[in-house]
Amino acid sequence: MNRYLEFLRAVGDVFFPRECLVCGRRLGLRERHLCLACAADVPFTFHWLQTHNPLADRFNEVLEHHRGTEPMDYAYASALFLYKGGYRSIPKALKYHGDLAAGRFFGALLGRRLAAAPHFADVDLIIPVPLHWTRRRSRGYNQAEVLARAVAAAFREVSRDSPAVMPGKLPVCRTDLLVRARRTRTQTRLSVEAKARNVASAFRVPVHRSGFAWTTPAQALARARHILLVDDTFTTGATLYACYAALRPYTSARISVATLAAVEGTPSSGP
Ligand SMILES: [Zn+2]
Repeated sequence: MNRYLEFLRAVGDVFFPRECLVCGRRLGLRERHLCLACAADVPFTFHWLQTHNPLADRFNEVLEHHRGTEPMDYAYASALFLYKGGYRSIPKALKYHGDLAAGRFFGALLGRRLAAAPHFADVDLIIPVPLHWTRRRSRGYNQAEVLARAVAAAFREVSRDSPAVMPGKLPVCRTDLLVRARRTRTQTRLSVEAKARNVASAFRVPVHRSGFAWTTPAQALARARHILLVDDTFTTGATLYACYAALRPYTSARISVATLAAVEGTPSSGP
């Protein structure tokens, strides 16, 4: 670590002690977000090592459940760690307590793993699950966007060491291609079916291009090869499915999903 940064952190620690997100113990100078013990115990999923894994199977079951006549690619899916025990506080810190630094840190961990996985190597478009604009305004940020930008940055970082990835083919993170059209109720206490009803048709692709974009959202989506939808937590897959369903008419690209955490063993029969 840079000695100057180390000095600043040491000074900062005196006035604002940093604590482990999982066990609450005070962090040492070289520890970031987690103490060494909790960092060694992260319930990583290792989803990124396999094209078919329990999370991808669950998401594809949701797709299968809603499937029309159109054939579609198997969606790849990967979460960084399981949503259990004290580790539940990591996505919560990002979502409810404004801990953007933790979001960027764990988003980068997820992104580096995805960027190194051959089946995610052709991702060219990263889209965070959008918040309704009123909620984004009251929270000040979209937690999924914080993660998506960290994932995109990790692809750039990994590509620098890997001659196989062409700089021109790096994924871009776009927040203008999908919007939340309707404000939905907080999902936390809803049943599986109620969650699906709550988010169905909540998302749409805007018709007009946004100020800085060269193309309309429809044109950008039509050109994509492999789209990665990013969210903080995979619970039933209902929200990610609703995003998938909004994008699908505009693109024949593979649409995969990645989240920071995944709830284990939720029912896979429904959405
Ligand atoms: Zn700890």
